[in-house]
Amino acid sequence: MDFSGTQTNTSQNELVDPFNRRIEYVRLSVTDKCNLRCFYCLPEHFKDFEQPAHWLTFDEIERVIGAFADLGVAKVRITGGEPLVRKDLPVLANKLAQISGINDLSLSTNAVLLAKQAQALSDAGISRINVSLDTLKAERFTSITGGKLQPVLDGLMAAKASGLAPIKINMVAMKGINDDEFENMVNFCLEHDFTLRFIETMPVGETGTAASGHYLNLQQVKQQLGQFFDLIPGVMPGGGPARYVQVKDTNLRIGFITPISQHFCETCNRVRLSVDGTLYLCLGQNHKYELRPLLRQGISDDGLKQAIIEAIAIKPKKHDFSDRPGHVVRFLSMTGGCLAGNHNVDLA
Ligand code: SAM
Repeated sequence: MDFSGTQTNTSQNELVDPFNRRIEYVRLSVTDKCNLRCFYCLPEHFKDFEQPAHWLTFDEIERVIGAFADLGVAKVRITGGEPLVRKDLPVLANKLAQISGINDLSLSTNAVLLAKQAQALSDAGISRINVSLDTLKAERFTSITGGKLQPVLDGLMAAKASGLAPIKINMVAMKGINDDEFENMVNFCLEHDFTLRFIETMPVGETGTAASGHYLNLQQVKQQLGQFFDLIPGVMPGGGPARYVQVKDTNLRIGFITPISQHFCETCNRVRLSVDGTLYLCLGQNHKYELRPLLRQGISDDGLKQAIIEAIAIKPKKHDFSDRPGHVVRFLSMTGGCLAGNHNVDLA
């Protein structure tokens, strides 16, 4: 194996990439399937999903996350596709929550199936969740996602009742689609004590690239909100790429995730594991490393850790969304959404 260029240091149980970034966060996609079809994410008639024989089993996932934990990773976010369509997800959550070293287990979901599962997920050890919600208008929700709004609202209320906190709403801000709803969404989050994060559209996959026409620079969104709310600088504990403001005299924090207008690659602390066992080293690049063949050939625990170290050594410096939009052809549903992180704030 060639480790030239990497500063990865296993003896101290930490993963450091060639650009001196400490990797401490794994985003774990437990399925590439989704029960919604957001027009900017997954094409309406897309059917080319990973075959079940290629899905990592819960035991395989547990092994990989265990190896990451031995290498100093403390945070895992379960994502998808839509993670709640994977059968028995609370069973997996429970296994992951018990891995020594994993101290932050979270979930990103569209909340369509959350009402029935929120309590079981909370009991299993999920501490906090991010919910994608681009609109509060039922008809608009259907035209953006192909699904129904009410189950999502029910899921959010069930999550609140089950003690999951914080609950963060992720809203992709899109010109001509939902740019008349930012103020409403702030009021909704104030009412329910949710955190709100706006996301810029990213040119990932043919759908994301096509949606670039709706791109909104979030500086504009912040200015728009500043006309209605008294915004003061804010910090969100947890580590992530959003930059936050707070609505004065309230608990509401509003984050801005700006992969395009202000990228945050220099503080990226994460990698992504897809359902078929591929490690993606950057959301906006094609660098990857296949772990499934190694797992199924019976690799030892030490061998698995060495493979992870080798993978981290090819983590690229930054994404190329601005210079080469559309060059990442996979859909976000394969790896889960948003990007990298700094240490003040958090993202899904
Ligand atoms: N199904 C889960 C959910 O809804 O959170 C997890 C996966 S979903 C791909 C994760 C996030 O990626 C969602 O918030 C979604 O809105 C966002 N997303 C998908 N495609 C995007 C794009 N082209 N630009 C910006 N955000 C995107």
